[in-house]
Amino acid sequence: MKTYRSPTIIDIPTDLSLTELLHTTTTPPLPPSHLISTDSLTHRSLTLHELRTNAGRLAHGLQNTFRPRDQAHWAIILPNSCDYVEIVHAVLWTGGVLCPINHAIVAAEIAHGLVVTRPEYVVVCGPVVSKVEEAIGIAEKELKSQGVFWTAPAIITIVERAPSGSYYHVPDDFASSTTLPIPHYADTRIKLATIHLSSGTTGKPKGVELTHYNFVANCKQLEAHDATQFHRGSRIVGFTPYAHIGNTTFPLFFGPYMGIWHHAMPQFELEAFAKLVDSVKPTIFQGVPSVVISLVNTDVTERYDFSKAEKIDCGGPPFKKEMFERLMSRAPWRVNQVYGMTEAAGYVAYQRKSDVQPETVVGPLLPNIEITLRVNDGKDDAPEGGPGEMWLRGPNITRGYAFNSEANKNAFPVEGWYNTGDVCTISATSIISVVGRTKELIKYKGFQVSPAELETYLNSHPHVTESGVGPVYDESQLTELPTAYVVLREHLIQEKDRKQALLEIQAEVDGKVSGYKKLRGGVWEVKSLPKNPTGKILRKQLKEQRIKDVLTV
Ligand code: AMP
Repeated sequence: MKTYRSPTIIDIPTDLSLTELLHTTTTPPLPPSHLISTDSLTHRSLTLHELRTNAGRLAHGLQNTFRPRDQAHWAIILPNSCDYVEIVHAVLWTGGVLCPINHAIVAAEIAHGLVVTRPEYVVVCGPVVSKVEEAIGIAEKELKSQGVFWTAPAIITIVERAPSGSYYHVPDDFASSTTLPIPHYADTRIKLATIHLSSGTTGKPKGVELTHYNFVANCKQLEAHDATQFHRGSRIVGFTPYAHIGNTTFPLFFGPYMGIWHHAMPQFELEAFAKLVDSVKPTIFQGVPSVVISLVNTDVTERYDFSKAEKIDCGGPPFKKEMFERLMSRAPWRVNQVYGMTEAAGYVAYQRKSDVQPETVVGPLLPNIEITLRVNDGKDDAPEGGPGEMWLRGPNITRGYAFNSEANKNAFPVEGWYNTGDVCTISATSIISVVGRTKELIKYKGFQVSPAELETYLNSHPHVTESGVGPVYDESQLTELPTAYVVLREHLIQEKDRKQALLEIQAEVDGKVSGYKKLRGGVWEVKSLPKNPTGKILRKQLKEQRIKDVLTV
């Protein structure tokens, strides 16, 4: 098997827990008064000292109250806030495993998150308690039907903290003036830190098991990659949920270690974002292309002060070159492509200051990462430099999916190698370009949408014989839109009935899923679905099939 290695190799400790990392900083040591976290939901801030002290005491309180087993599973279903940051570190401090679930998704999706992570404790805020209770009921039934014994988790709510009175913080029950001893593990490669939900390529999200070692490795890899990009004193305004991997690793683990201050918004809203930028003067933004387009297509960068921004890190779907240029004409920042995934505990490749920026380039591999580029269903090496499906090996790569041996067989075709499903090339100087995706995820404004999941809803509709879901790229919003193609049942003969049926199907599916999964590209009728000889839907050909069908009608 032909492999390519990152030219940089670093030492990564195998006995440093994330709690120990929280008490370590780059040299010289950061002052304890260094600001680490602020949020616009509760308007709280945390210095490094406060984060360490609060997390240690909360850990002691949780330990005394619940006496959780080592490596107990804790689901965290909260909006971004300083409470979130404290709870994450407190749970890790107790030896627990975090299972972050986006608080904004619907009950059925939360239930699925509970099924794949099977938590013993759930931490929620007041506004989502009833949704989570409903989700627990659904998850109990589902696991019972699978013959799995699972006791409904204890629910911990956080009591009122926000000025508006609508949000909550961990109750005084857990207050403690004592700090739990800092855990040390002889081998962090076998100590789970989180089970993050994957985006799901062949169905619903899976639970990605990530160890303390995986996260410590990713922080050390980022540090060594190009230290000049991030420095203590860097300030970030971010809005993606902490439950998403990129926004776990960077602000929660790498930030306190590096001395990067993170100001979290609960969600993106352009005017509020611009106002915040004006007052906070961040040096870094982390965004997705659809957010960037709103910076380019409106006058916010003229009305507010964006002048301190040094760079924008952009992950997710490929970024059009023209957009790079328009963006860079707006402020003195530069735009960096970032490539990563849940299964890699965050980051795999990162553009440096010196890298040129054609559309698909995502930069050099982080240290200690090895890749191989495969063709013919993984059987053969791709020609020198690719393109080929990229498999990854490295200290930050997951050991596998929780409670899912079938998925592990597919994702790890050869021991130790994770198949990303992304089609990539690598240059002679080790620069990666992501040129396509075999795994067919749709990226709507940075959120992952699984076609297979939407198809299960479509296929259960009485008017639908079969369906396929694919992306349609919307130039005006710079994002892919989930779009459905359905073969209707024969009883719908009249054209007006068929049109009506398509609208009904769309309304019904949109009503069942979270906002970002809605079929914004519409539901279209096709006569048949393009399939390969084994019957697998060729999602990339769905759009062409629609055009062909219209032409032949
Ligand atoms: P997630 O696990 O939700 O972070 O999604 C990871 C997937 O997003 C990757 O496997 C890629 O398919 C895609 N992705 C992430 N970053 C980029 C990028 N810079 N360019 C193209 N695709 C990307």
